[in-house]
Amino acid sequence: MQPEHHYRERQVELNAQREFRLGEGKISGYCSLFLGALSLLAVFAYLYPAYLTTIELRQAYDAVMLQQVLKYGMYFSLLFGVLTFYFNRFKRLGAAGIGLTLVAFALGGYRIPVGPVEPVRLSLGVDWLILAFLGSVLVFMTLEKLLPKYRNQVILRPEWSVDLIYFCFNHLMISAILIYANYHASHFDWAVSESVQAAVQSAPVWLQVVLIILCADFVLYWEHRLYHEVRPLWAIHAVHHSVEELDWLAGSRGHFVQVFSERALVMIPLYLLGADPVALNIYVTFAALQAVLIHCNTRLPFGPLKYVLVTPQFHHWHHGSEKPAIDTNYGAHTVLFDRLFGSYHMPADHWPVEYGTTVRLPRGYLAQVLYPLERWLPRK
Ligand SMILES: [Zn+2]
Ligand SMILES: [Zn+2]
Repeated sequence: MQPEHHYRERQVELNAQREFRLGEGKISGYCSLFLGALSLLAVFAYLYPAYLTTIELRQAYDAVMLQQVLKYGMYFSLLFGVLTFYFNRFKRLGAAGIGLTLVAFALGGYRIPVGPVEPVRLSLGVDWLILAFLGSVLVFMTLEKLLPKYRNQVILRPEWSVDLIYFCFNHLMISAILIYANYHASHFDWAVSESVQAAVQSAPVWLQVVLIILCADFVLYWEHRLYHEVRPLWAIHAVHHSVEELDWLAGSRGHFVQVFSERALVMIPLYLLGADPVALNIYVTFAALQAVLIHCNTRLPFGPLKYVLVTPQFHHWHHGSEKPAIDTNYGAHTVLFDRLFGSYHMPADHWPVEYGTTVRLPRGYLAQVLYPLERWLPRK
């Protein structure tokens, strides 16, 4: 019998240098820089929509209405930039934000006419990147500030910029990921059953959503478990586990091979079920929000839902590096398959004392992308 594990409370020291405090100019500087960069990206997307926006996403938003959002983004970037000069601190960030916004204005700003877009299959998801970034900051960063699990953990935690690169890559690649995933699923034509699809479509939408969640979760559970338990695969998945402080951005860290393979595998049940597009859209939105939420630094209470759905506490345990947490909690959406297949770990009110891998990975983006090769190739 295993000796009983002694759970400890995780201690996070406040890093005053990295902290954001009101009235210093640092918040203004970063707001100006990020709004300036996003504005410039948005202007490029308006100039070259065929190559820089996503077909699937274009149907979901109103490009003319978003010009108003861009307008406010540009003016606020300028305002925040000027504020850094008022505070007389972090002026470089402010100047960079103002500079980017002025270039955006020079290229046409929010007045670039919106017309019909020639559909190009493979494009960069600049629109998806901008909308996901703004949405995540608004929803998840606010949640982390209002209901933090670790109040002392700062927004600019170590390696946030590495995770921002992963975030950008995953969002820009959305078209390529979808093309690959659809191509992969099309190999399962032989398994399509018209009677199964007809039965699924005759069910109410909520039931279709539940069905999709369960089927997707089953596939994702086993995909995830294989990534942990098959040695060569672990070198790829270890990248996701190398993050040592979890927050909304941390979940973006993942080797591109894992990102592509995960989407390709989950596409199989979606393809075979042939559910109503409304149910499919609800599932995709739910899955995207849950994937970010479960990495968040939040103590948001879930009540009885925590016995059904994957929550931040449950997935934080998956990232825990303490003995009893290793290779547990593989579920992506629900706790069902961890319960069924004996990998469930949720010790009452405890949270992990430490996150990360037991063998430390390189800390840079490129070094992490190459890490699996380093592990697979024979050492000299
Ligand atoms: Zn994992
Ligand atoms: Zn994770």
